[in-house]
Amino acid sequence: MDTIVTVRDSLKAAQDFAARNNKLFVNGEFVDSTSEDIISSINPSTGEKWGDVQAASSVDVNNVAQAAEQCFHKIWSKVSPRERETMLHRFADILEKNGDVICAIDACDSGRLFGAAAQNSDLVKVGAARIETLIDTIRYFAGWPTKIAGQSFPLIPQPGTTSVCSMQTILEPIGVVACVLPWNAPALFMINKVIPALAAGCTTIVKPAEQTPMSALFIASLFREAGFPAGAVNVINGNGPIGADLCQNPLVKKITFTGSTEVGRKISQAASSTFKRLTLELGGKSAFIVMHDADIDAAAIHARVSGYGNAGQFCMCPSRLFVEKSVLSSFVEKLAALANNIVVGDALAPETTMGPVITRQDRDRIDETVSDARAEGAELIFGGEILDQPGHFFQPTLLSVANPESLIAQKEVFGPVLTLIPFDRQNLDWLVTMANDTEFGLAASLWTKDLSVAHRLASQLEAGIITVNTHPGIDPMIPFGGVKNSGTGREFGHEGFASFLETKSLHIMV
Ligand code: NAP
Ligand code: MG
Repeated sequence: MDTIVTVRDSLKAAQDFAARNNKLFVNGEFVDSTSEDIISSINPSTGEKWGDVQAASSVDVNNVAQAAEQCFHKIWSKVSPRERETMLHRFADILEKNGDVICAIDACDSGRLFGAAAQNSDLVKVGAARIETLIDTIRYFAGWPTKIAGQSFPLIPQPGTTSVCSMQTILEPIGVVACVLPWNAPALFMINKVIPALAAGCTTIVKPAEQTPMSALFIASLFREAGFPAGAVNVINGNGPIGADLCQNPLVKKITFTGSTEVGRKISQAASSTFKRLTLELGGKSAFIVMHDADIDAAAIHARVSGYGNAGQFCMCPSRLFVEKSVLSSFVEKLAALANNIVVGDALAPETTMGPVITRQDRDRIDETVSDARAEGAELIFGGEILDQPGHFFQPTLLSVANPESLIAQKEVFGPVLTLIPFDRQNLDWLVTMANDTEFGLAASLWTKDLSVAHRLASQLEAGIITVNTHPGIDPMIPFGGVKNSGTGREFGHEGFASFLETKSLHIMV
């Protein structure tokens, strides 16, 4: 099928869905909110509203928490591991069939490129909503339910008696999990959170970001189609205070959150009164370090892809480019040429290689950040302008600073703005100190052929994810998460899965 037809049909299906199912999804049904509040979703590619959804009230939060808890106790925690696996694989098949519609919804809601149609899109299309990534995650976690196992210990003789004590640990699902999502990859973050929770035997309540309310509702309807019991996956839209209500609800046992450091801090405080388990994936200001012996072509391509993919609205965006002075001009020349070829435009248009930024306010905030940086002495190498067209677009931008402590090299821009920081080869201690001199610690990448340098720097960099000769590093098999103000806990891998399980210790005297 040709790409244009796929996009048009998927968009039509997305619009039909948005017009019909704009309610809350509670206990397996689309139900009306008890509030009159409406959230409008603005398509960032056009600046126009493309759908409305109902916003939940505090009463709805209580109802949904009860529905999720009932389902947990009465149904889902009693479903056998093998059956959970079968259902997850069935859901993966259904999601795959609906991939284009999900990508079209996210393109309209968040401005993420409609990438599913460009199946063979190369690195340059990264930032596109690719359904394969979601399927990989579902199938990875679908393998875990039958591998949940505790420990058992040798029988312990009890001194002075004939008794022995048998001890073992049992791993049980935690219970109801609140999944609070950001707007920059709505479907992907829903899958990353809901799937391991369900695999572990937990039930879920999803709270999408207010800018991107729609794909979570659509995906919830697919869980119903796959046969998940009513109440296993619930979706309530609403703004920050509804998220706060949910995070304080006593029936919620764990919160898994992706979003800003500021909101992560509030959630952490709210969760503390009931000691909820927390996984927080927060902001970043990742260092991308190019040494003199690096493959400069590859480094420039990855900087372009990860830096300007999704218009820089990407937590692992390599927003601090530390480049050794001997290769600076060659790196900048290559990156500038790649940036020059970027086609900025509508997320649904097949020729687009960089979409919009999320809101008009964000576009203006990015513009102001660039102006402030220039006033502070940063040199503009390319870009730096708002694009004067409908929607919210900002040019791919590169600034250069001498001082890594300047504001532009410290604060998360969350837009297509990268900061270049040249360094001298003999100054590796300075490099490590400066790369670590940020409140964040999500990712860092190193570009060098010298494995000894790679190992030494990797051990000294303060980041949860380090990559060498590639950026970024995401795979459901390996844990993902940050240190410092980039968060706590890990998603993915066994560690991510185990975060939805509670350990019970059993002592039996026999
Ligand atoms: P955000 O403003 O922190 O919002 C995230 C979610 O939290 C939204 O659903 C938001 O609802 C909700 N929320 C707001 N206040 C709340 C409260 N007091 N209690 C509970 N929930 C609350 O983040 P964003 O603007 O959507 O996303 C951008 C940020 O996410 C960036 O900082 C980026 O670095 C980070 N991010 C991190 C990762 C990672 O894996 N580390 C990945 C992607 C993005 P409303 O939308 O209604 O405010
Ligand atoms: Mg927000």
